[in-house]
Amino acid sequence: MSEKVKFFFDTEFIEYPNTIDLISIGIVCENGSELYAVNGECDTTKADDWVRENVLLKMPEYDKDAGLLIGMSIDQIKEKILSYVNYNCGQDSEGRERPEFWAYYADYDWVVFCWLFGKMINLPRGWPMYCRDLKQWCDDLGNPRLPEQGSSEHNALDDAKWNKMVWEFLNLRKLHSNAISHKYPSHTTGQVIEMQKDHFIKYSDKYKF
Ligand SMILES: [Mg+2]
Repeated sequence: MSEKVKFFFDTEFIEYPNTIDLISIGIVCENGSELYAVNGECDTTKADDWVRENVLLKMPEYDKDAGLLIGMSIDQIKEKILSYVNYNCGQDSEGRERPEFWAYYADYDWVVFCWLFGKMINLPRGWPMYCRDLKQWCDDLGNPRLPEQGSSEHNALDDAKWNKMVWEFLNLRKLHSNAISHKYPSHTTGQVIEMQKDHFIKYSDKYKF
């Protein structure tokens, strides 16, 4: 079984009864490549005050006089994501793509993401029908304080980059706790553990555990 390729994403959206309307989406691949798209078909008149203040008015693509988002159609966004994921992912030996998707408090993001492709069964072949949630993983690891998100919170691409940082942070946290409690398999060398500890210490300097 081949390794999966991680994609970290975030969406901004308008939620109102019985639907979720995409405003923007940002995706960052584990290799660092990025995608950002704005939904030009979004009905921004449905936005509440919070979304208008914290999301729309901060977007250069939002024409507040016309109440419009300058962006792509849903079909264009879908095609852009398909080619971006396939390009960065490659294919396994059976020709299936092998992405793994991660988001933070992921449920609404995942629904609005899947709806780009239609129903859940319309997701591209070989893609997972679920999203991994960084918040759940954080809880499992004892709910450590996460790196600061900064002032660009609620920009979908910046939030996606932060999601990637959180994954790296939690992964080191996990490695570190394994190293401390000697949970590595017996064939794992001491050298590997030391290297991971050292990596952790450098990282902890950066993010202040
Ligand atoms: Mg966001």
